[in-house]
Amino acid sequence: MSLFEKFEKNAALYDHLSAIGKNPFTVVMEEVLGPTRARIKGRETVLAGTHNYLGQTFEASAIQAAKDALDHDGTGTTGSRVANGTFAGHKKLEEDLAAYLGMKHCLVFSTGYAANLGAIAGLVDRVQDAVLIDADCHACIYDGCQLSGAETIRFRHNDPENLDKRLSRLDPKYKGKLVCIEGMYSMYGDIAPVKEFVEVAHKHDAFLLVDEAHSFGVYGETGKGVSEAEGVMDQVDFYTGTFSKALASIGGFVASNHPEAEYLRISSNPYRFTASPSPATIASASAALANIKAHPEIRAKLWENAKRLHAAFTQFGLRLAAEPAPVISVLLPTREDAFEAWSFLLEHGVYVNMAIPPGTPGKESLLRLAVSSAHTSDDIDRLVSAYGALAEAFPSARIDTDA
Ligand code: PMP
Repeated sequence: MSLFEKFEKNAALYDHLSAIGKNPFTVVMEEVLGPTRARIKGRETVLAGTHNYLGQTFEASAIQAAKDALDHDGTGTTGSRVANGTFAGHKKLEEDLAAYLGMKHCLVFSTGYAANLGAIAGLVDRVQDAVLIDADCHACIYDGCQLSGAETIRFRHNDPENLDKRLSRLDPKYKGKLVCIEGMYSMYGDIAPVKEFVEVAHKHDAFLLVDEAHSFGVYGETGKGVSEAEGVMDQVDFYTGTFSKALASIGGFVASNHPEAEYLRISSNPYRFTASPSPATIASASAALANIKAHPEIRAKLWENAKRLHAAFTQFGLRLAAEPAPVISVLLPTREDAFEAWSFLLEHGVYVNMAIPPGTPGKESLLRLAVSSAHTSDDIDRLVSAYGALAEAFPSARIDTDA
């Protein structure tokens, strides 16, 4: 059997999409024109698939901080903090994040992916522990479980009762139990009942990890995520996040009030065996954090934009996956509908994400739009107009037609 046989199914789809000129995986931003605009296929396009929730990619203070860090600290750390040492910027960002979240400890990882991988595989023992995850969790949570080698049990999405049942039936031989959920789920934009999950997990002496990758900076009165909105920040055992969305950089973190979290630095491979984030990426994340803390109106603008778009799409009769949120997904019955609809939007000057099974939670395909606080009134008008045309051209995207 050839090494490449496994690619056959995906390769056929990939090649077919390229052949018909509708391959979302080959989009090139020929020129980035700002936080919400780029030139794609020669056309100025509104970016609504980039998870730039708080529009920080072109924030002047973040750009300046990154330039200064390049000048002072160079282009890279050239290795892991365990071997090469910690830069002052790493330490400061960890302290700032811990202070912001009201947690005692924070560890910066090189990506959000590595943060979840490192937290789960670092915490959970292969033999004596079990990990329980929401079925809709991101691939990095699944991969963290696999890397840990521990017994992994899935519970029904956003269903604390189902988790309760699974924990009740768990073999008592497992000493440690870790439950993993997300704050806002990125495919549908639906949010977790974090408070109920805290109660169920702690009732069974399990620890709770909440990945707030998409909800950090976005939910809660001061932007700390769904855990803040639900009033349980102090009860979350491990809070993970990324710098690649609201903070518009690269990197991730694990925050916790458990002092033992510090030991992940010496025992978690995705922390200790990979290069630490570069000075410029750390500096821009730090500046973006300071900016979003000082300017809650940025978050308010995001929500204003999200509500405006959701209301307009609802009026068009589009089949939407969830309540108003910074992610607004339109459900489509087939992959072919999704290819056509995604490419239709691009031709109308709008870039969103296309997601198809098995990458989606259900059987549907979807068009996923990520709202930004930086979307201008003109951007929003163009999005509304493109989605209005979509609703006309694709009856299968509307609720008045049976999927
Ligand atoms: N968690 C979730 C829920 C995500 O959606 C993502 C990436 N989109 C990550 C973690 C990984 O973040 P990063 O891009 O920083 O690796």
